[in-house]
Amino acid sequence: MYTVDHIIGNTNHDDALGEAAEAHDSAGTLERVLLDASERKKSRLRVHTEAGTDLGVLVDKPELEDGDVLYHDDDRMIVVSFEEREALTIDLPTETALSTALELGHRVGNQHWDLAVEGGTAYVAVEAEHRIVEDVFSEVLPPGADLDYEFVAKGDVEAAAYDLVDSGLEGFNNRMRDNAEVDRWASKGAFVVEQHPNHPDYLICEMETSRGCAYRCSFCTEPLYGNPAFRAARSVVDEVDALSDRGVKHFRLGRQADILAFGGDGEAPNPDALRELYGGIRAVAPDLKTLHLDNMNPVTITEYPEASREAIRVIAEHNTPGDTAAFGLESADPVVQEQNNLLVTAEECLEAVRVVNEEGGWRPGDEPAGAPGGVPGPNDEYRYGPSTGPDASPRLPKLLPGINLVHGLTGERPETYEHNKRFLQSVYDEGLMLRRINIRQVMAFAGTEMAETGAEIAQEHKDQFQAYKREVRETIDNPMLDRVVPPGTVLPDVHLEYHQDGKTFGRQIGTYALLVAVPGERELGTAIDVAITDHGYRSVTGVPYPLDINAASMNELTAIPGINRSKAGDVVVGRPYDSVDDVDAGVADLSRFAVAGDTAVSIPGRDAPGAGPGPDARSPLGRGD
Ligand code: SF4
Repeated sequence: MYTVDHIIGNTNHDDALGEAAEAHDSAGTLERVLLDASERKKSRLRVHTEAGTDLGVLVDKPELEDGDVLYHDDDRMIVVSFEEREALTIDLPTETALSTALELGHRVGNQHWDLAVEGGTAYVAVEAEHRIVEDVFSEVLPPGADLDYEFVAKGDVEAAAYDLVDSGLEGFNNRMRDNAEVDRWASKGAFVVEQHPNHPDYLICEMETSRGCAYRCSFCTEPLYGNPAFRAARSVVDEVDALSDRGVKHFRLGRQADILAFGGDGEAPNPDALRELYGGIRAVAPDLKTLHLDNMNPVTITEYPEASREAIRVIAEHNTPGDTAAFGLESADPVVQEQNNLLVTAEECLEAVRVVNEEGGWRPGDEPAGAPGGVPGPNDEYRYGPSTGPDASPRLPKLLPGINLVHGLTGERPETYEHNKRFLQSVYDEGLMLRRINIRQVMAFAGTEMAETGAEIAQEHKDQFQAYKREVRETIDNPMLDRVVPPGTVLPDVHLEYHQDGKTFGRQIGTYALLVAVPGERELGTAIDVAITDHGYRSVTGVPYPLDINAASMNELTAIPGINRSKAGDVVVGRPYDSVDDVDAGVADLSRFAVAGDTAVSIPGRDAPGAGPGPDARSPLGRGD
């Protein structure tokens, strides 16, 4: 066996090596090492060339590239060659191309698939069975969309685009970006946000923070990127700085298997690295409106409880309310856990949920008069009072866990559904909060263990899955939403997106933003503050905050808990009022929703007391606060 301990060069970037490869090819002395999607993301592997030469590759490079030269002398040259990957091509009718492409981007992002959009065509690397890929898209594709498959970039789309521009078709190279390239391009490419149609207000930018994972869950594609490789905190901060200079105010730290592990050894938390990351971001973008994250691994909290608590405190002191840390429990059934290399038991995950609730579940508030003791955070927020109940601040909690559950994994049985329901019920019964429960069926991605076993179990259990999902929505999601977003909670800056059934629907910008419905057809493309009045399973209703009791419509008045049409009629007849205290509202507590006239209000943790925007400032996009 030959041992390869360094890469000599690359035939696609080095003209001399490219010519040598052609000469060896003609002479029949060129040997290729064909790597599949998972092998190419490794820097240490044992392989055979097509001619049978046995090679041990151990190189100081995060991943191999197509064209890398492993061996070269006068008699022979050995180069890396990537297997072709299939891509799904979707031709979109022009009039729906943009909105559909955005929805496609969202779905592809959730699956961690690569997507490129060019003109009216989207290209998606096929990482699962065709049936599954088409299922993922079928709901969003408009009538007339054509599906076809052809070969496209086999590595990172950004790297392929760069190589094409840099060196033309000959330089086209199916490779992944390394962190140095991400760092360089991220800041330099920040100008592109100004070309987005929603720039600057209705736009969130996600900063990639790492790739890869230290663990090997059976269904997951992240380990195909190898062990975790983190960007430096400074480079993420520089990217935020560049974007902030170009008007961006909403940010998400994304693309990570575990935010707690950022800047560490891949497993243990590194609170100092998080402090540098989050503190740096707040320093360069002091006026940011959103700072959210992507994933957190409960096993890190289980294995390193104290360091995890400190790391979560750092995050919650610097992020913005409504942030969600998605936990991959995947299954609470010990049999499924065992057969799929899952990392935490239900009990361990419950403990992780407790920890995030304790350290991150607080709601920002104003320091109460005469009751000093609120803890000022770095962003003029005060951590004061309980997280739930009537005395809690009317803001979303800073950071709550989300739970991901996957069905159809190897070993799944009827009891699996009972295990999962029991786990969720125990979270609820303990008074804890979850921001989101994500229930999915597994997909058999190429390169994962599931690709070998297939996803037949998911098909077989489809009916049971649907009934169970409905039950979770009704018995857990519904009351949980009431706990997380009780009536009177204020959501600042809800961006209004569409009208339906006489209502206007909108969302805040951020991770898993709640869908909010307000009565009446209000101007789209604007943002308003909303006080929540009620909720469904996964969405909420509310009224513009603060509601002017002297001008509110009947639909707005009856949206307030405790006010029926008869009482609303009485309120209207009794106008005008000098104060909401003068209104005979029966059992309704108007003070959480309404004011009389142009009275100014503040939103705890956002506006300084007495400096609230008031009804006149219900807010065209771009209002500074
Ligand atoms: S599910 Fe999470 S922990 Fe498991 S391999 Fe994937 S990223 Fe890693």
